[in-house]
Amino acid sequence: MPLTNSQYQEIMKEYSELRSESESRAAERREQICAELPGLQPLEGRIASLSVQRTKQLLAGHAPEAEALAEDLAEAREQYKALLASEGYSEEDFEPVYTCKMCSDTGFIPQPDGTRRKCRCFKMKESRILYHQSNLEGLLEQANFSNLTYEHHKGEDLTHLKGAVSLCKDFVNSFETNYRNLMFYGTVGTGKSFLSCCIARELLASGHSVVYLSSQNLFDTLADQRFRPESQEERSQDFESSLYNCDLLIIDDLGSEYTNGFVETQFFALMNERDLRKRSTVISTNLSFGDLQKRYTDRIASRILGRYDIIRLTGPDLRTLI
Ligand SMILES: [Zn+2]
Repeated sequence: MPLTNSQYQEIMKEYSELRSESESRAAERREQICAELPGLQPLEGRIASLSVQRTKQLLAGHAPEAEALAEDLAEAREQYKALLASEGYSEEDFEPVYTCKMCSDTGFIPQPDGTRRKCRCFKMKESRILYHQSNLEGLLEQANFSNLTYEHHKGEDLTHLKGAVSLCKDFVNSFETNYRNLMFYGTVGTGKSFLSCCIARELLASGHSVVYLSSQNLFDTLADQRFRPESQEERSQDFESSLYNCDLLIIDDLGSEYTNGFVETQFFALMNERDLRKRSTVISTNLSFGDLQKRYTDRIASRILGRYDIIRLTGPDLRTLI
């Protein structure tokens, strides 16, 4: 999902502030060096004037005069460098020092074909905004594939967990090229939300937009917005647009909401829209497939069965063990 216009403007404003800070620091440094070396500014004046004279002579076709001026100019430049060096400076000290050397705090790197590509620092800023927007701040501190422990699982439970982790990593690694959806199911505390968060963390870090909502929160907000006064319609459209367009939508604890006709319609529409746009969804639920069929309509259950990789997690309730 691209950044909204205001998010993009926010990043550009940050860059502009960074640049003007660096430039004003450079101007201060220059003033200080000039004060220390009083001969510097007269030399700069001489260099500028010799340059102008040489250009005039060149334009007038007076090659020998231009040549002589070029020699004077080179000499003046040498004197200038030597004067700076006498106090340990160089011309580089006048240049602004940008936070990012790659893009000079512009956010973009010009390409040989005339286009510009986003700098790494831009992607980091982008990911910070997307992270904030994902509702996952705080939840992700622990959820990390490297924090994963297998010590509480044995036998078949361990096989399920290892299989699930490998599928999750594969989901992340092929996210750009392979449109897929996942559904974790299993009893309470088997690590469904943990694995969803691990996926979210990896994708946010690579600059993807992720929206994480508990099922209850998702449908409550949708219902709330349906009956919202018109004055707040814009915010409601923003919410729906991020549900439909975010790179990954995570619906946690499906089945915890109060299910009714509205929820069913909204849920199906959401799955359908995301499917059409090839935007992945990860669902976690305590419901078995049979429960899903009973709780929602057949078309929802068969949509999940047909379009989702189903991952079963079993084992002890990790929340009581950790
Ligand atoms: Zn940069």
